[in-house]
Amino acid sequence: MKKKQISDYRIASDADSIRHSFLDNLYFVQARFPEVASHNDFYLALAWTVRDRLLSNWIETASTYYRQASRSVCYLSAEYLTGPHLHNAVLSLGVEPQIRHAMAGLGLDLDDITAQEPEPGLGNGGLGRLAACYLDSLATLQIPAIGYGIRYEFGIFEQVIRHGRQVELADMWLRSGNPWEIPRPEINFEVGFGGTTKHYTDESGRYRVRWQPQRHVKGVAYDTPIPGYRVPTVNLLRLWNAQACESFNLGAFNVGDYERAVEEKIASETISKVLYPNDEPMQGKRLRLEQEYFFCACTIQDILRLLLQQNGSLDLLPEKFAIQLNDTHPAIAVVELMRLLIDVHDMAWDEAWRLVRKTVSYTNHTLLPEALETWPVELISEVLPRHLEIIYEINRRLLEKVRTRSPDDDALLARISLIDERYGRNVRMAHLATVASQHINGVANLHSRLLRDRVLRDFHTLDPERFTNITNGVTPRRFMILANPALTSLINDTIGDAWTRDLERLQELEEWADNPGFQGAWREVKLGNKQALAQTIFKTSGIEVDPATLFDCQIKRIHEYKRQHLNILHIICRYLEMKRGLHTDAPARTLLFAGKSAPGYYTAKVIIELIHTVADTVNSDPDVSDKMRIAFLPNFNVSSAEKIYPAADLSQQISTAGMEASGTGNMKFALNGALTIGTLDGANIEIRQRVGKENFFLFGLTESEVANRRAGDYRPRERYLNDQQLRSVIDALADGLFSSGDSTRFRPLIDNLLQHDHFFVLEDFSAYRACQQQVDDTWNDPTKWIRASILNTARCGWFSSDRAIKEYCERIWRVSPVPIKQNTAT
Ligand SMILES: *Cc1c(COP(=O)(O)O)cnc(C)c1O
Repeated sequence: MKKKQISDYRIASDADSIRHSFLDNLYFVQARFPEVASHNDFYLALAWTVRDRLLSNWIETASTYYRQASRSVCYLSAEYLTGPHLHNAVLSLGVEPQIRHAMAGLGLDLDDITAQEPEPGLGNGGLGRLAACYLDSLATLQIPAIGYGIRYEFGIFEQVIRHGRQVELADMWLRSGNPWEIPRPEINFEVGFGGTTKHYTDESGRYRVRWQPQRHVKGVAYDTPIPGYRVPTVNLLRLWNAQACESFNLGAFNVGDYERAVEEKIASETISKVLYPNDEPMQGKRLRLEQEYFFCACTIQDILRLLLQQNGSLDLLPEKFAIQLNDTHPAIAVVELMRLLIDVHDMAWDEAWRLVRKTVSYTNHTLLPEALETWPVELISEVLPRHLEIIYEINRRLLEKVRTRSPDDDALLARISLIDERYGRNVRMAHLATVASQHINGVANLHSRLLRDRVLRDFHTLDPERFTNITNGVTPRRFMILANPALTSLINDTIGDAWTRDLERLQELEEWADNPGFQGAWREVKLGNKQALAQTIFKTSGIEVDPATLFDCQIKRIHEYKRQHLNILHIICRYLEMKRGLHTDAPARTLLFAGKSAPGYYTAKVIIELIHTVADTVNSDPDVSDKMRIAFLPNFNVSSAEKIYPAADLSQQISTAGMEASGTGNMKFALNGALTIGTLDGANIEIRQRVGKENFFLFGLTESEVANRRAGDYRPRERYLNDQQLRSVIDALADGLFSSGDSTRFRPLIDNLLQHDHFFVLEDFSAYRACQQQVDDTWNDPTKWIRASILNTARCGWFSSDRAIKEYCERIWRVSPVPIKQNTAT
């Protein structure tokens, strides 16, 4: 072998060079030698080793983008739920065999090492995970893109269960160092807050406004490389960290007020300290508004810097950048962009607005009225006085336009206004994002239709061509190749590996669906995954489950609209019926739950308690214990998701129709061969269309039936009175059968169901029950089940995030791939 230069072995991909780099990093970066190194030292040494190989591609990518100056996507998201980086990076680089070999030579195991990585929990659930899937696809499709977000020091809390209740622990993901981020202290921006605005006429007679903030905070960039799968492209995730400005404490120090100086420093750093653990917006929380503005202000300044650095003029903004708002959390960015263009860069309003409208697009993620973000005018005027003025001006022009088209329609003006005047005065962030955007999209067909017909109906009437749908997708790299290596090998051996980048090629599996040999292999893969999950369940909760049973899974945030309580009520029903000697033919099931509740969401926490208390009773009852067993896997996150989706037989997607915008868990399950029991909601509808109605267990009210019930007079108590099974379930709960005779514990939950049942749990109960019977019947015909399982995988390739990103590129961003030259060593 020819003698290598240092820079060669740092990036070469043969096992020898990798071992050499690993030992170097252990020695020179971690300052350890193998005999005394901890698991974390080994993890970090391997992370640096892999990172070096990413960085060489990253630099090539950055310089290519700089030279070509083609249009780039800026994806703005307050959350990214990436999951651990190490294994994904190894997969992307295609060096897993060499790394395994190199580690084995040192007596180490790659899987043990990757298990050391703490997961960056910078998101709550689906929305943050979607952003992470999209970054993966953007890099894989070689699209120039930057993800912008917040570097929370504490991500989503760690959930532990004590006495059947959720307890939240602080997530200290940065505790042992984060090898995946590169601090960029030289890339920093000042962000103002509070203060006053000054209106004046300048020397040339132009009307000008100057904002004089009361305080400033500095945002510093931390960059994380995002590798594409088996391509040299490495894109950038840039997260902002809040720090005190250098000038922060001068005044205070000078008068000797050391404490005040330190307090100001702490106050500045608080802004990026913690992720708000709610799936829904925090109404009225000043710090949350400050977080949103902080991240948008840094991001917009960075984008303008990049534009001007490429010697572009500001008019080139729409040619050089497409800015995508992932929900309304970054909506204030459009106001910041207007402010910089008109106040700082002296642009005329109309010209600035034209640039904004050609650059920005908005993805809506929810229709729930309580989840649509609004901010009190009063609060915005305190935190962002200049931005409020600009919002008013945007609104004045919007209302003027509406008034010309529909004179004398005051109701329309009140509905469409950026200011909701019904309960105090609040800025509607969805209206702000919509009026500023070139394109507005929902995330599944049904959701986009409801967006057009209801939530943003007036905007749709005004400009129908701006509205579109892009159904969500998930990355097959993390959720198939990484999470399900056994299935990946089986598929590769059967149809080759082209499906990993062209997921619709999974269709080629269809012709194998009836092949007994293939069915047997498919069953073995699932069984192996279930055995692995059974071990995890035993280790984390001490519950023994049998891998031969039907694994029935509902894993997602705990929320009333997702209806974990419908599932548990049905489990109680089953339990009571089994106690009465029914369901002797029913297959044994393992009933698995996982999910976090927002810390302040009372009902969701009661639902977690209910799951645990029913589990205690059922699991310890010898009459049923070989028929059903309930487990709650604590701390649902990307790492545990990767273990559960591949092991599931049945995927529970049972939200009230019209309430789940899309769902992506549904896609991950189906791609891993689970059958769905679900309502006609979100992307379930599209999954069912693709897999075929005979391979999907459908039940429940449709969205329009839900709407009719809501408009009419729905009386849940009548459901209870008229349905014998439902009555025995509710009565058993009310009598304290699952709370050692304590009849008060679940009373509020029961009363809520009987009196309001806003989510139609009681209304859908009997249909759900009947549908679960069909699940049993199908499971009892193993060939039929396996065939349906194969067809679920074969027909869900369309739900790849690659497909979704291609649609964004063509219909919204108008960007094309920029291939990167492979940087070779060895
Ligand atoms: C996919 C995923 C979600 C979203 O699940 P839904 O079932 O669509 O709500 C949430 N959290 C994690 C960790 C995920 O991987």
